[in-house]
Amino acid sequence: MKAKVVIVGGGVAALEAALVLRDLAGDRAALEIYSARNDFVYRPYAVGRPFGSAALKTYDLGALARRCGAELHTDNIVSVDESARLATTYAGVSVPYDYLVYAAGAGRNSQVPGATTFWGIAEVADVEVVIGRLKDRRIRRAAFTMPSVAEWSLPMYELALLTEAELSRAGVADCELTIVTPEDAPLRLFGRGASDGVARLLEERGIEVILGTHPVRFHEGRLQVVPDASLDFDEVISLPRLEPRTVAGLTPDSDGFVRVDDHCRVFNRERIYAAGDTTSFPVKQGGIAAQQADVAAEAIAADLGVPINPSAFDPILRGVLWTGYEPLYLQGWLAGGHGETSTLSTEPPWEGGTDKIVARALTSFLAEVDVGAVRTAGPARRRPGPDRGRNQSDLANSA
Ligand SMILES: Cc1cc2nc3c(=O)[nH]c(=O)nc-3n(C[C@H](O)[C@H](O)[C@H](O)COP(=O)(O)OP(=O)(O)OC[C@H]3O[C@@H](n4cnc5c(N)ncnc54)[C@H](O)[C@@H]3O)c2cc1C
Repeated sequence: MKAKVVIVGGGVAALEAALVLRDLAGDRAALEIYSARNDFVYRPYAVGRPFGSAALKTYDLGALARRCGAELHTDNIVSVDESARLATTYAGVSVPYDYLVYAAGAGRNSQVPGATTFWGIAEVADVEVVIGRLKDRRIRRAAFTMPSVAEWSLPMYELALLTEAELSRAGVADCELTIVTPEDAPLRLFGRGASDGVARLLEERGIEVILGTHPVRFHEGRLQVVPDASLDFDEVISLPRLEPRTVAGLTPDSDGFVRVDDHCRVFNRERIYAAGDTTSFPVKQGGIAAQQADVAAEAIAADLGVPINPSAFDPILRGVLWTGYEPLYLQGWLAGGHGETSTLSTEPPWEGGTDKIVARALTSFLAEVDVGAVRTAGPARRRPGPDRGRNQSDLANSA
């Protein structure tokens, strides 16, 4: 008898869990994916859309699931009954399981009234309008912000850098671009080495950074912030706030996210695992989501009798920063015990290529799927000219 593993979600963590389970557990597990959507959207490319330098990559989730050896059901899971080992869908179908991996991600909510929200996968036309107005010199001062440190901040830096590059190419020199961030240093999560390099890059590109500051609302040219102040801008672009997405039967923490142990087992729940943005782990990022999925899949495989020693979650943060010129690669361990690991470089210090979500199984899987398929996106444009990449090489601290 195969054990039935139900994977809830159709994003990064769900696909990574399915791939690793397929590879480790093989015939011991039957995999079923329940997802609210029937497509998989590769979100990081969304930052290039307002600049025409990248388009969203979207995949047919049913086809991906089949290649992972899983069956897709396009239906929301609305509750989980641990004692009966039964999940229930929105359509009212009861789904028995032996193991359940909850990977439903997080919702997004506009949090700064009056600002233009950059949603990531939905509408980017409003952001394009702001950039168009800067290029046409109808406005001069723009801010890029995010409501709290719980969000993945890298897209905010990319939007500012890509805007600066776009304006520079268009010969618009007198705009003022500012990042207003609750972080205490730019991209601080990656550690000091990478963060210092990004700070230098922003300074060289003339982008001001206001640290330790939460945006509240934007009204009549004033961005009200905490600590108490108001800052003058013509336009403000904000990332949304992430919101928990739990279902009945899983007890969330006080913020609404799902708490897991070192093997990504949901606290106080038997045979239920969780991975990705839905967990209470404070860094909501695709690479981290995949690492949690790896840990959960290994734990399930070991439970099914596969002779492995399942790893504990020991997160390493890897990011690709599109700058409008050469991309930069950031890396740092999140937990202690690894020494000084924070790096910023012009080549990725990890194996597996230059794509933006760095995952043990999913990165190469998507690269294989892309072969022969029509690629709808590409990396940010490079500026021709002798100084291309010069700043980045100087900034890289590990090359
Ligand atoms: C603009 C932008 C840029 C980004 N750039 C990067 C980057 O460069 N690198 C990086 O690593 N990360 C990046 N991220 C973050 C990354 O996209 C997320 O951290 C990652 O997608 C989280 O994966 P997940 O599987 O937890 O959730 P998601 O990918 O959000 O997937 C959740 C899935 O669950 C489904 N679902 C929801 N509720 C249910 C339910 N009740 N039942 C069944 N299915 C359900 C949803 O439809 C969705 O398919 C970026 C994000 C954005 C918005």
